Amino acid sequence: MAKHQPGRSRRTFVGTAIAGLPASLLLRAAAASDKMTKPQAEYQDTPNGIYSCGLCTLFVAPDGCKVVEGSISKDGWCKAFAPVD
Ligand code: SF4
Repeated sequence: MAKHQPGRSRRTFVGTAIAGLPASLLLRAAAASDKMTKPQAEYQDTPNGIYSCGLCTLFVAPDGCKVVEGSISKDGWCKAFAPVD
């Protein structure tokens, strides 16, 4: 069993551990997104034939996408295209 040390709480320990992490690592974690970048998704502002974001289940009107970050055109397209039934 751990011996309790007066004046040293778990919160103090965690705070000290976080303070020891490099700022760049913390900023990178905060900026991390679960979404793909446009280049990763091979996004284009034009349709791929008859397929476009406006016909994709992942499109979020008026200009968003559930899996690709940034402003998305309803006339765009990317390799994650998932057609509406
Ligand atoms: S085609 Fe790609 S960018 Fe467009 S809505 Fe679907 S997943 Fe998002």
